[in-house]
Amino acid sequence: MNPYLDQELLALSEQARRFAAARVAPGFLERDKTRVLDRDLMREMGEMGFIAPELPEQVGGLGLGCLAAGVIHEEIARADLSISYINLLASLNGQILAQHGRPEVVGPWLAKLTQGRALLAIALTEPRGGSDAANLRLRVERDGDEYVLNGEKTSISAADQADAAVVFGRTGSVESAAHGVTAVLVPMDLPGISRSRFDCHGQRAIGRGSLFFDNVRVSADHRLGEENKGFVQVMQGFDFSRALIGLQVLAVAQVALEETWDYAAQREAFGKPLTAFQGVSHPLAELATQVEAARLLCLQTLWLKDKHLPHSAQAAMCKWWAPKLAYDVVHQCLLVFGHGGYDRGVMEQRLRDVLGFQIGDGTAQIMKTIIARAKAGRQAVPA
Ligand SMILES: Cc1cc2nc3c(=O)[nH]c(=O)nc-3n(C[C@H](O)[C@H](O)[C@H](O)COP(=O)(O)OP(=O)(O)OC[C@H]3O[C@@H](n4cnc5c(N)ncnc54)[C@H](O)[C@@H]3O)c2cc1C
Repeated sequence: MNPYLDQELLALSEQARRFAAARVAPGFLERDKTRVLDRDLMREMGEMGFIAPELPEQVGGLGLGCLAAGVIHEEIARADLSISYINLLASLNGQILAQHGRPEVVGPWLAKLTQGRALLAIALTEPRGGSDAANLRLRVERDGDEYVLNGEKTSISAADQADAAVVFGRTGSVESAAHGVTAVLVPMDLPGISRSRFDCHGQRAIGRGSLFFDNVRVSADHRLGEENKGFVQVMQGFDFSRALIGLQVLAVAQVALEETWDYAAQREAFGKPLTAFQGVSHPLAELATQVEAARLLCLQTLWLKDKHLPHSAQAAMCKWWAPKLAYDVVHQCLLVFGHGGYDRGVMEQRLRDVLGFQIGDGTAQIMKTIIARAKAGRQAVPA
């Protein structure tokens, strides 16, 4: 029983689990080597209605709630965290486009996004730093009915595989900070764009890299939200992705725990199953408790979002807690497997995959500052 999931959501979750076990899990280890997202698989996910189902039907979604997006997301992540990036990026960018874009411009992109025929990146971080996110340098200058982009975005997930990116840049002066930032939808095949790929520790099928903009001209109707209001308006979408990331990494932790309980129950040492030793079973029991609690927090956050209630502090709680917890869980599970856990394989890949989210989408320190501001007031918690 779960207070946030009714029969319909449980059935959807079961459907996604069967699909992920049959279609996503088999390529998990191989994609880490090839470092390529499987576009056929992405289209299949779109055909199943698994990509951004929370978007309204008129823009290609199914009009289901954010909880529906969450339960699908965790089942895909259970099988391969990198593949579940397709869901994460589509839900984050889909919401931004649907809420802030001109229908005639974003409509075709939203259709392709939900059908699994387009992948969109989100480009905020710059070489000078990501935590101080409003302090952007990439220039976005108006020239007639176009914007001209110059600068670099770095550490962008799917940088070299994305078909378009939501790019945040500076239209105002540097001193204007968050109030001089504008968001623009930029197709990646425009002249003047080049890209690079990093050699990442984990999440290798999705990958990260830099985007370079050299006098890139984008039609002004591709702006998302108002000019100079990109940070304030468009960044609100991140509360959604933070709850989704929580479910994403906890799904990896959950499957690692399930496999570890099974292994520890059948593996013997000193004439007994490993589970007979409290040194093995109690840490797993403690972590299982925390995973259950953290998952409830993530589901509650999505429930609050579906009810249009404030949830920024809860989203930040999901984002700092779940990735740290998931890392601790997979680490502990790996140790229970003994020397076998240290081999290249499923468990060590999971450890590499979940670690990235202790940094990506904002670090634990920044999340705790968001929570502190919500509790004590912004004046009491200056940057
Ligand atoms: C797997 C992964 C995926 C990513 N995907 C994307 C993406 O798709 N798009 C995108 O735009 N970016 C992405 N990023 C970048 C990510 O958002 C940034 O790395 C992150 O915001 C931190 O910025 P930074 O790395 O520049 O660290 P810095 O901002 O330089 O911070 C360095 C350290 O100092 C700490 N710190 C900084 N300021 C404070 C403070 N005020 N108080 C306390 N501690 C502080 C930070 O917590 C951190 O530990 C991704 C990163 C990773 C690892």
